[in-house]
Amino acid sequence: MHRELLKFSHCGWDIYCPCVPQQCPVCGEAAVSSWRLEEAPVSIPSPLVSGHSQPCSFVLRPTWGNFLGEYDGSADLHVGISSSTGTVYHYNESGVHKDSVGWEQSVSVPLVPAHQHALLHQWDSYLEEFSAADNWRPHRYQEADQNCYTFALTFINRVLLVQEKEPFSKEEFTARYVLPRTRRLSKYLSIWRQISLTGFCILPTHCP
Ligand SMILES: [Zn+2]
Repeated sequence: MHRELLKFSHCGWDIYCPCVPQQCPVCGEAAVSSWRLEEAPVSIPSPLVSGHSQPCSFVLRPTWGNFLGEYDGSADLHVGISSSTGTVYHYNESGVHKDSVGWEQSVSVPLVPAHQHALLHQWDSYLEEFSAADNWRPHRYQEADQNCYTFALTFINRVLLVQEKEPFSKEEFTARYVLPRTRRLSKYLSIWRQISLTGFCILPTHCP
């Protein structure tokens, strides 16, 4: 997503738009004239990133299509793990895939802090070895409990095991790392949907 999203506050509302209008769309007054510092426009960063530019991350995208434009909030999601060079490893009913394109609009959870050089160094060989295991053959795939999420989380837990850290349950990982990001994405996408209809989006100030 390369279009810029701006937010400014006026007359008790947060107003989102691609560029600042001459007049406030709520009250009609000149938007700029009365700005205090806390009301001035700020750029809202996109929660979408390219999975291919996010090394050593958990990445998530719709199974079909893209988040922007096509995603209706209920479609199936697909997840994978990126290598140190941005190749996304993921598992589905036809086995393990290694994608160098197709994850350009993803939500990402970085998994390795930049200072963990030893782990960064070994990441790709761990991932390669892990993906080659029998567990991830096509015939082992089961929609409910041997799927893309199992693949990604089992890998994350293997790495944690090597570091002598506690593994995550699916519920823990989802609640702690995935849901905060998908909630932010939902809000971002609904703002853009409204902008595409009316040119701006208005929310009560401090709407979470
Ligand atoms: Zn106003």
